[in-house]
Amino acid sequence: GNARIMRARSLLAVGWFRRLRSVAASHRAGKRHHPRIRMKIEKDRVVRFHYAVAEAGQEAVENSKDGGQPLAILFGHGNIIPGLEKAMDGREAGDSFKASVAAADAYGERREGLGQRIPKKHFGAQKLAPGMQVVLRTNFGRRAVTIEKVGMSVVYVDLKHPMAGKDLEFDIEIVEVREASAEELAHGHVHGDGGHHH
Ligand code: ZN
Repeated sequence: GNARIMRARSLLAVGWFRRLRSVAASHRAGKRHHPRIRMKIEKDRVVRFHYAVAEAGQEAVENSKDGGQPLAILFGHGNIIPGLEKAMDGREAGDSFKASVAAADAYGERREGLGQRIPKKHFGAQKLAPGMQVVLRTNFGRRAVTIEKVGMSVVYVDLKHPMAGKDLEFDIEIVEVREASAEELAHGHVHGDGGHHH
């Protein structure tokens, strides 16, 4: 296999959420101030938003404000879990709201028997420890996996998404809604702040 492995910075970055990347300071400094246009969230628009996500009834496990930068997605293209897209549909910049998403509309039900051994060489020089979450690039796309055990030549991983089988609660704050560029539509993801940097 040609699995590519990187450290999971965001549990949500995988499968659905794109991994966030830091933005150069110069980029931030040069940020334009758009005139305020009330544009609704709908298919083929770019949405930038802050989120906090928690397992139902618990403390947030991840908050985009910790990293400082909102996440950017191309709406209607499966960049995020279906339940969250549903909750965001029709909202506008400046809206803040809570969304409860059942496991079936989030990362799916928990399935057992998804353990797998992966040759250690695919993990590069990275220090590995049980319980660590890493992102594998597989033939099926990016997958967040949990390291269960580190052997001499293989690493035992659990292929379940860490949030599989969990009902989730989101706190969402819509920062910006804009039209996507033709290039973004062709790629199926957002370019620039909070999105992809090729
Ligand atoms: Zn692209």
